[in-house]
Amino acid sequence: MKYLSYRHRDLNAYVPGEQPQDREYIKLNTNENPFPVSKKALAYAAENTKALHLYPDPDCRELTELLSKKYSVSNEEIILTNGSDELLSFAFMAFCDEKKGAVMPDITYGFYEVFAKLYNIKYRRIPLKDDFSISCEDYVNAGGTIFLANPNAPTGRVLGLSEIEKIVASNPDNVVVIDEAYIDFGADSCVSLIHKYDNLLVSMTFSKSRSMAGGRLGFGIGCKDIIQDLNKMKYSTNPYNVNSMTAALGIGILKDEEYTEKNCRAVISNRNMLSDALQNIGFDVIPSYGNFVFVRYEGLSGEGLYLELKKRGILVRYFNSERTKDYIRITIGSLENTEILIAELKNIIKN
Ligand SMILES: *Cc1c(COP(=O)(O)O)cnc(C)c1O
Repeated sequence: MKYLSYRHRDLNAYVPGEQPQDREYIKLNTNENPFPVSKKALAYAAENTKALHLYPDPDCRELTELLSKKYSVSNEEIILTNGSDELLSFAFMAFCDEKKGAVMPDITYGFYEVFAKLYNIKYRRIPLKDDFSISCEDYVNAGGTIFLANPNAPTGRVLGLSEIEKIVASNPDNVVVIDEAYIDFGADSCVSLIHKYDNLLVSMTFSKSRSMAGGRLGFGIGCKDIIQDLNKMKYSTNPYNVNSMTAALGIGILKDEEYTEKNCRAVISNRNMLSDALQNIGFDVIPSYGNFVFVRYEGLSGEGLYLELKKRGILVRYFNSERTKDYIRITIGSLENTEILIAELKNIIKN
């Protein structure tokens, strides 16, 4: 701290889920995809990675073109980033300042608060309802740049398209950022609304549904003007934010969409199986549209459940805030690991 700017002395940085090396765990703590990157995509990238002695194409044209076809938007309506965390960072930089604050739910992706503090942006947190759903009336004319994860993390709850549209339409002077990191696990994307509203930015990632957390590839979709503003941030910090290997992998993955779709169906099926099984043994399970479930068991704390599972070689995540401390968030794994998890949770509650 000796040399750290006074600006950052009170900053609490984002704490990633643990990645312990001491033993093999069944890792259900960081919402990674249980399936590896497709072999076809890896082979494509091995053949097609652009020469590494040259800088990558800062506009990622090939990748952008595939994405614009997939989402029925134009190339000027997309920006590629180093994971979607970087897109969110650009959005805070571009659309908030000392006058224009941020608005977000009290329970949501922890990084929003970190970015707001990093950039010295005032923010208002709107409490979720008791059942952890978002009341969209609370966001009508919210008076700041809105950040909403849909499905929300770590609850897994989802807003419908008409509710998202109501929020976007009622905040014409503010950008509304809809973080769709988990959209491919069963909810409806609001991307089509970008042609109707110039204040909507949709954030997406290859990390969850496309098994690419380690590759770091995210993207944003919005009207041309919003994307231009975000590019200003990108070209002022890191124009080569997507490296050549990752760009080639992204292209390979988009050429093998069947594989992604098959994996998403498996995750959804395992999620539904896990949700039913946990309800049957007495857990409260919040209905989830993500690749995770948020659950509690009366009489046990989130930390207690976390520690018991860790002893048994399974990692999950708990969040020690007042409203979430009784819950654990469990990432949906392979069928085999889901079955092991259910057996261990049965053991824990028996004792
Ligand atoms: C995982 C996650 C992200 C960011 O993931 P990247 O790996 O940076 O793309 C963004 N938002 C939410 C809600 C997430 O859960």
